[in-house]
This record gives sequence, C-alpha cells and structure tokens, in this order.
Amino acid sequence: MKMVLDSKSKCSGCGACSHLCPVGAIQMQCDKEGFLYPIIDERICIQCQKCTSICPSLKGRSPAEMQKVFVGRHQNANIVKKSRSGGAFTLLSDLIIQQKGVVYGVIYDDQSHSARYVRADSKSKRDKMRGSKYVEAELKNTYMMVKDDLQNNKVVLFSGTPCHVAGLKAYLSNIDCQNLYTIDILCNSVCSPLILNKYIQLLYKFLENLQKNLIFATKPGADGPVPKNLFILDPAKYIYIFITLYIRAICSINRHAINALTEADIVKVICL
Ligand SMILES: Cc1cc2nc3c(=O)[nH]c(=O)nc-3n(C[C@H](O)[C@H](O)[C@H](O)COP(=O)(O)OP(=O)(O)OC[C@H]3O[C@@H](n4cnc5c(N)ncnc54)[C@H](O)[C@@H]3O)c2cc1C
Ligand code: SF4
Ligand code: SF4
Repeated sequence: MKMVLDSKSKCSGCGACSHLCPVGAIQMQCDKEGFLYPIIDERICIQCQKCTSICPSLKGRSPAEMQKVFVGRHQNANIVKKSRSGGAFTLLSDLIIQQKGVVYGVIYDDQSHSARYVRADSKSKRDKMRGSKYVEAELKNTYMMVKDDLQNNKVVLFSGTPCHVAGLKAYLSNIDCQNLYTIDILCNSVCSPLILNKYIQLLYKFLENLQKNLIFATKPGADGPVPKNLFILDPAKYIYIFITLYIRAICSINRHAINALTEADIVKVICL
C-alpha cells in the first residue's frame, strides 16, 4: 500500500489530498492504531503530483503573525460551564448564526462513540459542539459542504484542529473565501478513536452504571476541583487520562508547534 507521504509522522490526516486528487485515486483508510491515512490506488494514479503539491504538511507553514490578543470569557456562567474553556466559541458562533450563516464544528455521538464534524444553522445544533472531544474527529465530506455553502454565498465559521483548518484551506485554495472564518482550538494532540471505542466496550462489559454521555475532562469551577486521578476515581464517568496515551504520530513530533504555525483567523486557548 502506497501512502501519499513517505512517513506517517508527517501526515496530519487532513484529507485534502484525497479530496483534490483529479482521478479519485486516494482513499483515507484506518491504520491498525485507528488513525486515518491517505492510501493511493496505484492502478488509477496518473502521477500528476497534485496530492503532494497541495499537502499542508509538506508545504510547511509560516509562523502566524499574531496581530492582536484578546483575553475573555463569556458573561453567561452557564455557557462557560458547558464549554471546555471560556466559551469564546459560543460567542463567535452566535455572531455567525445571527446573520443566517452556518457553523462547522465537532460533536460526540454517544451511539457510535465517535467524534465528527457537523454543520449547524441554529443555536441548538451548535450547542452540541461545545466541549472538547479529545479523539480525532471524522471529516467525511465536510470540506465539500463548506465549499457548497461558500458558493451559495453563506457566511461560514469552521472551528477545528489546526491541521483540519489547514486541510480545509488547501482544499479551498481556488475558491473565494471572503465569507469564511476559521478558528483553531489550541491542540497538543488527537487520540485514537479505535482505542476510545475499545475502551468503552470494555467499560460496558465490567460496569453496569456506565454514563451514556461520558465526560472527556473536567475543569475547576464547573465540576468542582479536578480529581488527581480521574480514571481510577470514576472510570464510568471520565475517560480523559487513559485515551491521551494513544495519540497520532505527527502530534508527538509537532505538539504545540502546530499551533504556532496556525492558518486560522482566530486561535482559542484554554481559559479556566
Ligand atoms: C483534540 C484537542 C486537544 C486539545 N489540546 C489542548 C491543549 O494542549 N492545551 C489547552 O490549553 N487546551 C487544549 N484543548 C482545549 C481547547 O483548545 C479549548 O478548551 C477550546 O479552545 C475551548 O474553547 P471554548 O470554551 O470557546 O470552546 P467550547 O465551547 O468548549 O467548544 C469546543 C470547540 O472545540 C471543537 N472541538 C471539540 N472537539 C474537537 C475535536 N476532536 N476536533 C476538532 N475540534 C473539536 C468544537 O467544534 C468547538 O468548536 C484541546 C482540545 C481538543 C479537542
Ligand atoms: S499523483 Fe495525482 S493522480 Fe496520483 S494520487 Fe496524487 S493526486 Fe492522485
Ligand atoms: S494532504 Fe493531509 S492527509 Fe494528505 S498527505 Fe498531506 S497531511 Fe496527509
């Protein structure tokens, strides 16, 4: 099996190459650790090199020029409680929805135990995006949906990992993006969806009182003091510590460097 890049540790899994291959020769496939990588079908490939020429990981990114820094927290304490940090995402996405725009972000599906990007045109749909889901989120046809919205003159807000924002921008490089706003979450790594799923199946086997809506992490002020060892104290409720051991290869190399090289309009950092 031939990958687009020669090493897994270079690939963020943004999927831009598979979307842009002119002959559809690239499929995103799950490896044994549960992360998606682009695999080329060499019988179809015409060697045009488009995949490598648009790849954000190969292109490299210039350090973002930090123009202005704002520190803030949503005035509504209930929204702060429901958000992972200070609730800036709710504030910014409210502005988009108020002008009949659409918001793309990540929800957690309690049935399939997976995180995935979805589109929201209302506050109630957007509210499900609140909170950090520390696993790699599925993109599927999200980039195409963003493109359709932009071509239909919608104002679009895309909030995701720095790698997915870079992938989206690579995908949209020939499109008018005047109406596109992007937010990077501060991100040090994404964890394996496969490990999360296996872990949850194991919990179901041994714990009768497993909560349907597992909590990835807690924060002081919202849920009381952070327990020192969440996993041992209450494995039926908290899953944060265990899954963060299984991260994508590129994250262990780049870590916070990815955030410094952001392509997004806004970068959100944690604010307790
Ligand atoms: C994978 C991951 C790694 C993180 N690493 C760090 C870190 O190293 N240091 C740190 O201080 N904070 C980290 N965070 C937390 C995060 O940066 C902030 O808590 C976030 O900016 C919350 O701001 P808020 O209160 O405005 O957002 P909220 O209202 O809580 O909204 C959450 C936003 O995060 C997005 N989101 C949630 N899960 C995912 C996902 N799996 N993939 C892509 N987007 C997602 C949603 O779409 C939504 O836009 C991480 C979060 C995630 C998901
Ligand atoms: S070289 Fe061209 S045809 Fe081959 S996989 Fe890459 S983009 Fe597709
Ligand atoms: S475009 Fe994205 S998915 Fe494709 S090789 Fe580059 S980093 Fe990996």
